[in-house]
Amino acid sequence: MSEILSNILFTFQRLDWLAVFDMALVTLIFFMIFKLIRGTQAVILLRGILFVIVLLLLMTSLFNLPAFRWLVQSALPALFLAIPVIFAPEIRRGLERLGRMGYASIFWRSSKKLSHDLEHTIHEVALAADQLSNRKHGALIVLQRNDSLDEQIQTGVRMNAEVTEELLLQIFYPKTPLHDGAAIVVNNRIVASACVLPLSTSSEVLNKMRDRQMGLRHRAGIGVTEVSDAVVVIVSEQTGQIAVTHAGRMLHRLDIERLENILSSFLRTDQPQAKLSRFQIKPKKRKTPRKTKDRRAE
Ligand code: ATP
Ligand code: MG
Repeated sequence: MSEILSNILFTFQRLDWLAVFDMALVTLIFFMIFKLIRGTQAVILLRGILFVIVLLLLMTSLFNLPAFRWLVQSALPALFLAIPVIFAPEIRRGLERLGRMGYASIFWRSSKKLSHDLEHTIHEVALAADQLSNRKHGALIVLQRNDSLDEQIQTGVRMNAEVTEELLLQIFYPKTPLHDGAAIVVNNRIVASACVLPLSTSSEVLNKMRDRQMGLRHRAGIGVTEVSDAVVVIVSEQTGQIAVTHAGRMLHRLDIERLENILSSFLRTDQPQAKLSRFQIKPKKRKTPRKTKDRRAE
C-alpha cells in the first residue's frame, strides 16, 4: 500500500504542463467515448469489461500470484484487441457523425431550408399519431436522423411519398398490407413501410416502465434507437397511448402538443445526444389556437 502511495506522490512531483495536457487529452477521449455510447447497450458491456479489468489489476497488484499474473498479462492485450470488434457499430456511427459534421457546416444554407419541410413533417406525424391514438390503431413511425437506416428500409416495402396525416392513417389502418411493421421517414419523405426493426435486447428499459404489458412494437421502437440516433413515434394498439423513443429511452403517455414539442426539439436542432429527460417538464400553453382543431373543423 505504501508503495502505491509513494508512486502516486512521485507522479505528482513530476507533473508539468505537458503532463496535464496529456491527461486532459485522455480524459477528453474517454468523455467522447462515453458520450457516444451513453444510453446504448454498449454501456453495459463496457461496464462489464471495466469491472473485469479493475478486478484483475487489483488481484495481481495486491497479492503475489505469479502464475495468475502471467495469465492476466497474456490475456489482457487480447481483451483490448477484442474491444474494436465488440464496439464496431458504435465506432462506425461515431466516425460517420464526425464525417458529417464538416458536411453540415459546409451546406449550412441548404439544411436551413429543410427546416420548413421538417416542421410540416413533424406536424403531420403528430396529427396522425393523435388520430391513430383516438382510433387505437397501432403504429410505428421512425424518423431517421444522421445514422442511416438502409438495413431496416430494405426489409420493408419501398415508397417515396410525402409525409401526410392521411397517408400515415392509411398505412396503419388495421389489416391492410402495409400496417404491419414500421414506416420510415427520411428527409421528410416516407421511404418505406412494413419495415422490420431490430428488437431491443435491454430488459432494463422495459422493466422500468410502469406498463409491463409492452410487447414487440415497443421493443422494436426502442431497439432501432439503440442502433441509431433515430427518433420513433409509437402508438399502442392496446391502449392508444403515444410514446416517443430515442437513444434507447422511452417517454410515454404523450398528448399531441407534447409530442410535437418533443419531435421539434429532437429534429429541428442537430443535437444527436439530446436527452429525453429534458422533456419531462410540461410545455408552455400555446397562445394561438391550434392548427389541428381548425383542420378537424373543416
Ligand atoms: P401494442 O401496445 O400496440 O399492442 P405491443 O408493444 O404490445 O404494442 P405487440 O402487441 O406485440 O406489441 O405488437 C405487435 C405488432 O408490432 C406487430 O403486428 C407488428 O406490426 C409490430 N412489430 C412487432 N415486431 C416488430 C419489428 N421487429 N419491427 C417492426 N414492427 C414490429
Ligand atoms: Mg400488444
